[in-house]
Amino acid sequence: MQVIGTALKAHAFVRGNGKRRVLVPTMGALHHGHAALIEIARDAAGDSGQVVVSIFVNPLQFEPGGDYDRYPRSQNADEELCRTAGVDVLFRPGPAQMYRDDRSTAVEENRLSQTLCGRSRPGHFRGVCTVVTKLFHLLAPDAAVFGEKDYQQLAIIRRLVRDLDFDIKIIAAPTVREADGLAFSSRNLYLTAEEREQAPVIRAALLEAAQLAACGETSAARLLHCARERIGSAPLARIDYIELVHAETLQQQTAAGANSLLAAAVFFGKTRLIDNLLVA
Ligand code: AMP
Repeated sequence: MQVIGTALKAHAFVRGNGKRRVLVPTMGALHHGHAALIEIARDAAGDSGQVVVSIFVNPLQFEPGGDYDRYPRSQNADEELCRTAGVDVLFRPGPAQMYRDDRSTAVEENRLSQTLCGRSRPGHFRGVCTVVTKLFHLLAPDAAVFGEKDYQQLAIIRRLVRDLDFDIKIIAAPTVREADGLAFSSRNLYLTAEEREQAPVIRAALLEAAQLAACGETSAARLLHCARERIGSAPLARIDYIELVHAETLQQQTAAGANSLLAAAVFFGKTRLIDNLLVA
């Protein structure tokens, strides 16, 4: 596995490289969810192609006063996971490699970013779109894999690729979960034992609301009430948002239909966890 730490070396790696490349962008502290994305990338790259994983804790996507400084960083374990998973190239730049102090350009998606996490975290998706655009330019992948756990991010990246004419196939990867239903997330490391015990309530609440919908309930108000009640049963949970939205436009819906998504963000202490579920 080749480890690259600078933009210059990334350009040199890409230049004259005729191989199919599949990129998995991450912020590190790699877990089973990331490993599943790498496996999907391996399949998509084929025997003669290359899997490239980027690890970069992107300061632009953290709010001021957010958890940028304490975001988990586990360089050696991450490198080991990548080696074991058959990654060909690890791109791991430092912040100074990615952003000049006097940078004055950013990439912004202006519609899908206005709802859900975009409302709770102003500037977050601007940071995501900017770094992903840079990674796409630096590493010039043929395809890139993103997780459905960050559903809104996936939708925004698809829009970015369409609107800016990137010739990159976006591959969606299903959410990987712990045995009790909690989605793997690097931020799960922040949870106290008590919070960790209660955190699966997010998934349970979404499943309960989806079950209600499967029984014929279409009212968003009633579905969301059901999910809120369930989350309310966990004393340490504080709802940031829970919404029923159209899975493509991400606009709020008053009634569940064929293409509805339940999406939730819930705080446990200072830790904000997200999850979502398509309602059939
Ligand atoms: P992150 O390192 O948290 O920025 O995530 C990097 C990529 O991994 C994103 O595309 C995420 O959607 C994806 N990801 C994170 N957690 C999971 C999970 N539990 N299952 C599947 N994909 C995930």
